[in-house]
Amino acid sequence: MSEPLGDLTRTHTCGALRASDVGAEAIVLGWVHRIRDLGGVAFIDIRDREGVSQVVVRENEALMAVAKRLRSEYVIGVSGVVQRRSEDTVNPKLATGEVEILAREIRLLNEAKTPPFQIAEDGPVSEDVRLRYRYLDLRRPRLQHNIGLRHRVSIAIRKYFDANGFWEVETPILAKSTPEGARDFLVPSRVHPGEFYALPQSPQIFKQILMIAGADRYFQIVRCFRDEDQRADRQLEFTQVDVEVSFARPETIYGLIEPLMPEILKEVGREVPLPIRRMSYSDAIAAYGSDKPDLRCGMEIHDLSEAFRDAEFRVFKQIVAGGGVVRGFAVRGGNRYSRSQLDVLVDQARQMGFSGLIWARPGEPPLSSVKSLGEATLRPALDRVKATSDDLLLMAAGPAEGTSKLLGQLRLAIAKRENLLNPEAFEFLWVTDFPLLEYHAEDGRWYSMHHPFTAPLDEDIEKLESDPGAVRAKAYDLVLNGSEIGGGSVRIHSAALQARIFQCLGITGEEAKLRFGFFLEALEYGTPPHGGIALGLDRIVAILAGEASIREVIAFPKTANAVDLMAGAPSPVDPKQLRELHLKTQN
Ligand code: ASP
Repeated sequence: MSEPLGDLTRTHTCGALRASDVGAEAIVLGWVHRIRDLGGVAFIDIRDREGVSQVVVRENEALMAVAKRLRSEYVIGVSGVVQRRSEDTVNPKLATGEVEILAREIRLLNEAKTPPFQIAEDGPVSEDVRLRYRYLDLRRPRLQHNIGLRHRVSIAIRKYFDANGFWEVETPILAKSTPEGARDFLVPSRVHPGEFYALPQSPQIFKQILMIAGADRYFQIVRCFRDEDQRADRQLEFTQVDVEVSFARPETIYGLIEPLMPEILKEVGREVPLPIRRMSYSDAIAAYGSDKPDLRCGMEIHDLSEAFRDAEFRVFKQIVAGGGVVRGFAVRGGNRYSRSQLDVLVDQARQMGFSGLIWARPGEPPLSSVKSLGEATLRPALDRVKATSDDLLLMAAGPAEGTSKLLGQLRLAIAKRENLLNPEAFEFLWVTDFPLLEYHAEDGRWYSMHHPFTAPLDEDIEKLESDPGAVRAKAYDLVLNGSEIGGGSVRIHSAALQARIFQCLGITGEEAKLRFGFFLEALEYGTPPHGGIALGLDRIVAILAGEASIREVIAFPKTANAVDLMAGAPSPVDPKQLRELHLKTQN
């Protein structure tokens, strides 16, 4: 058997050849992208990761015979001379479109079955088929672009952290449970019957221990595992850019993460004006009804309670008198909605859970869906939301937070429908001062909103026992275009305060010792104040690539149903393997 490549060693990628290469010898290796046999002449487009080159076979019977055997996706090597294309075959859309390779040798390296979908075109193919044949999908331009972009973003991140004195440290995958609020994946130990490792939901405890260990500045591009019921666009395993810094305040983290954003956006040729805006959690909820507001469409929610305190409209007036609020926002360009469009909107709002959505149009005089509302009430309300004559005011009343949240949902639904969310815009925002704890009525106890190692704001510590719901945390999220792309906090570095927080969470001393004893012990050996953040790499790359789903930027994702359709995971295992692991399945 001869060596499959013979003496073909690549001189150029399929995307490299230009007019300046005319006359050069070239050897390219790749896949048959398209083939056109015109009788005496054959054109073969050969493709690799970098692009497509045209190969021409002319006046050469032996080569013509090889060309006739070729089919799409066959693997070939070609050597020949680079020449200018004839006028009529120049392709200005292709980087290599001015030249072609006049073939001297074509070596068939491997055949291919007919693919279940076109590789050369990004036509619609069902996602299941794409995932089943992911290796073919990955050959197509869209995923080639996305995976290449992901690589470049990862490299930019590594360079940035290296330049800023960070160490990338690997933390264990076979670990102990970290509380991030999801279920753990467990790995049974063969050598310790009945005992289990947990896959990390995040490296949270390890990165904090690295600070205790004097690592000072740590980052890691790391896989995290959370056994959650697959909601919308989640994956069981996902990648975080995990960061921890000693001697940090929230300000320290903002100062380190902000300059990273322009480095990342450079990869798509975009700039990020710094500093990034900040908004407290409570302001974000009031003004956008969300802790991850999309700032691309304006339409801020305003409080209109004052305007309705003495209004003719009894319903709103009574709600305000009872301690509730009236809030509303201006729909950009909404004044052109017809009466029937408005009826649909009101109906839609009802389905979303509004008990009543009231609209008002600017004008002389302003008009409203509630006839009794006069100019004296509507005018100040319209002014307050800064409605122009093109806009429409939408209002609702009720308890403060719930009203803002409903209006926030409606705001987003309208913004999406009306294409008000510019896909070209990148709007970053820090949401700060999250509540430390949230109450779950089902089991009547408090839970950490972030995780139990998050430090409370110093001025709120005294309320930990008396008014836990009012305690704010040194916790922050980084939001981009309405998606949370990162979250973190300054941590508790005092063992005593950590114990107090566990108490608030109803975690007994004994339980804490069992779950995090090693960490609590470490805290007592000279822990520096520290804090950090984790950024979601999948989501960031998806946004940069303009993809709605993170599956489009992960080489081998699982379906929304948690299945790897290509490899066929999960799958049953050999009973012998189970026995070795001291496990029995129930069925
Ligand atoms: N470990 C946290 C998370 O995965 C991030 C952090 O607090 O740094 O959400």
